[in-house]
Amino acid sequence: MQKIKEIIKKYLRAALEVILIAALVAAGGFAYWNFAGKKHLVHEIAELTEQVEDAEHETEKVKEALEESEKSLQALEDKQHEFEAVKSAFANGVLLQDIETLYKAQKSLSTERQVGLAALRLLTKGAGDPDTVAAFEKSLEMAEWNTRLQSVCAAQNALAAAGQKVTLLSECQRKGPAKDGKDKEPEAKDKHAKKEGDKGHDVHWGYEGDNGPEHWGANFPICGKGKKQSPLNIVGPFEKGKDTLAVAYKEGQLKVINNGHTIQVNVEPGSKLTINKEEFDLLQFHFHRPSEEQVDGKNSAMVAHFVHKSAAGKLAVIGVLLNEGKDNAAIKTLWANLPPKEGEEYVPAKVKFNPGQMLPSSLSYYAYEGSLTTPPCTEGVNFYILKTPVDISKAQVAKFPFKLNARPVQSLNGRKISSD
Ligand SMILES: [Zn+2]
Repeated sequence: MQKIKEIIKKYLRAALEVILIAALVAAGGFAYWNFAGKKHLVHEIAELTEQVEDAEHETEKVKEALEESEKSLQALEDKQHEFEAVKSAFANGVLLQDIETLYKAQKSLSTERQVGLAALRLLTKGAGDPDTVAAFEKSLEMAEWNTRLQSVCAAQNALAAAGQKVTLLSECQRKGPAKDGKDKEPEAKDKHAKKEGDKGHDVHWGYEGDNGPEHWGANFPICGKGKKQSPLNIVGPFEKGKDTLAVAYKEGQLKVINNGHTIQVNVEPGSKLTINKEEFDLLQFHFHRPSEEQVDGKNSAMVAHFVHKSAAGKLAVIGVLLNEGKDNAAIKTLWANLPPKEGEEYVPAKVKFNPGQMLPSSLSYYAYEGSLTTPPCTEGVNFYILKTPVDISKAQVAKFPFKLNARPVQSLNGRKISSD
């Protein structure tokens, strides 16, 4: 009896999770749809319908399982009611109040329910409703990282998709350039997400074929529909750049990871970038081959992206273009310490590295407002592409383990590029 209960509980939990994830995806899509000026209406609705159908399919399975054991499982009846409420919320255009009432009657709310409730609020009231944002934030505060990470990330990405300024957790940033040093299992998490979502969608992404950049939008809507995406072809006319950059990077233990998409150097706290008077911490830097940015339509051999974050959660990326030329001493150190294994941070004993070694003498820049150049392609990232390239030898380029890991240039969509 106890065992059956546990099994049912497990199913119920899994299906509830599917519903919540569908809610979050839908909420993100809905919010985005509002945000983007109601284009792609038909496509969005088709997508949402598909998500809900998937969720309902899961619900059916659980209902069957529940019915079989109905007599001996009175204790689970309440849960089934909740479940029905969640389900009908989708079927009837969201009975948010019912769910709120139902949950209010309970002593405390689990994180899943907080997140789910918040997702439904977003779905019904849009991202303009202050309660929506508050509910998300509350649910995020309550999160238990390891078990609820996926829901939390979905919630964060939904908020970001809705155009809210969110501080994305490092764990939620997948393999994007904004990832900091703590995420050691990006691949594993992605596979996990796929399995739990179980919608038959492949969330793996890459640079070629069916996983290539032109298909990212299928799983990461902003990548396909965002209007301020990176990278760009940098070409005039330019506005006058007003930001003043000051860099104070410092030496620390070298930590390198091959995350399956790039080689990334995770930076210990203490390296700073100051933009005007605002301080940003350098989290990591990583490489693309060829450079993602073009200058006057031309790519460099490679580019290094230095990813910074302010206390308020703002992201700023400095791009250093690497042109084929002389050997680069800093890269020599890095390439001599490439991780032996994918997906694990490699910390070579007693090897120190100062990221400042990678910068040219001048910080003169081209600047524009863009996005992460990898899924989920979150916008609101300020880019400063340094005008002065640095050298890298042909042999060093050849030693970089990724032959192609650059997203193509994106549409300007009326943005202005500035030049200091
Ligand atoms: Zn990058």
